[in-house]
Amino acid sequence: MADQGVVLSGRDAVALEEIDVAPPEHGEVLVRIEATGVCHSDQHVIQEDGWGHTYPVLLGHEGAGIVESVGDGVTSLAPGDRVVLGWKPACGECARCLAGRPRFCLRPPAAVGRVTRRDGTPLTPVLRTGTFATRTVVPAAAVVAVPAELPAEQACLIGCAVATGVMSVLETAKVREGDRVSVIGCGAVGLSVVQGARIAGASEIHALDLDPAKPEQALGFGATDVEPGRSDVVFDVVGRRATFEQGLSLLASGGTLVLIGLSPGGETAAVDLPRLFARRAHIVVSHGGDHLPAEDFPRLARWALDGELNLAAMVSRVAPLDAWDEALRTLGDAGVIRTVLTP
Ligand SMILES: [Zn+2]
Ligand SMILES: [Zn+2]
Repeated sequence: MADQGVVLSGRDAVALEEIDVAPPEHGEVLVRIEATGVCHSDQHVIQEDGWGHTYPVLLGHEGAGIVESVGDGVTSLAPGDRVVLGWKPACGECARCLAGRPRFCLRPPAAVGRVTRRDGTPLTPVLRTGTFATRTVVPAAAVVAVPAELPAEQACLIGCAVATGVMSVLETAKVREGDRVSVIGCGAVGLSVVQGARIAGASEIHALDLDPAKPEQALGFGATDVEPGRSDVVFDVVGRRATFEQGLSLLASGGTLVLIGLSPGGETAAVDLPRLFARRAHIVVSHGGDHLPAEDFPRLARWALDGELNLAAMVSRVAPLDAWDEALRTLGDAGVIRTVLTP
C-alpha cells in the first residue's frame, strides 16, 4: 500500500495524501510509525502559518514505531527495534554541543528531502520528525530504542508531552524534594508536569485550569490541591497573558516561573518589576523541558514500565490516521487528554 501522510499545504489547508518515502541515507533511519500523539504544537503550526516550517509541511512530531531500515553508519539501531522519535536531538558539532551542553543544541539535525509529495515536492516534517504518516525518515540521533513491552500508543507520548512535562520539572526547573509546585494548564503536558513533580518529591502540587474537570483529573496523577497556593515553582503550560501573570502572582520568595506553553504571535504580559525584584523571582523558558532524547527517553520508558509514570491513563482515544481532522478539532476538549493516531 502507498504511504500516507497528513500534509499542511498552505494556510489552514490540511489533507491526508499519498506520499513517497525514500530509503534512509548515511546516518538516517526509516521508521514505520505505529502510533502518534496529537499535540497542540501541530495545531500551532496550522494556526501560525507554518510556524517557521516551509510549506508543504508533514504534520506530527510525537511518534513511536518500528525501525524498518537504517542507512550507512548506523550501528546503534537495527530493523525491528521499537523506538520513540525525538524532535530535539543534538548535532554534536555546534558551539553548545562542543561546550558540553547538548540539551541546548543550536542545530538539531534533520533528514531533509527524504519524504515527498507524489509529484516529488519535498515535505518539511514538523520539528524534523513528521509522524502523522505511515513511515518517515529521521536522523539516527532522533531515534531512541525503548523496551518492546511498552505499548506504542503509550510510548509515543514520551516523544513530546511526557518529555516536555517531566523534564521541565527535573531539568529546566530542577524541582527539589519538598518544593511547593503549581501547574497552570492540565492537558497532557500539564499532567506530565504533575507526574514529574510527584517523582521529584514536591510537597504540594496545585493543579489549575479554566476547565474545572481537569484539576480534578490531575488528582489521579499526583496533584494534591485544586486551588491556587503560594509556590516555589510555577509552570505556565498555557502561555497566555492571564496564565503568565497568574503564575507570577503565585510565586513565593525566590521562586521560579517556568514558561512552557507556546503563545500565539504577539502575545505580551505585564510584569510588576518592583514586585519581581522584591520576590527575587526567576523566569525561565522551557523548550520541551530541555530534554535530550538519547538520555531521557530510556529512563522515562523505564519509569512507565515500573508504574512511576502513568501513561496509560493519558491515552484517552486511539483512532486511525484518517481521523486526524477530528483529533485536531477535539484537542483540549474535556475528557480528551491525548488522542493517539495509529497509521
Ligand atoms: Zn508536542
Ligand atoms: Zn548541537
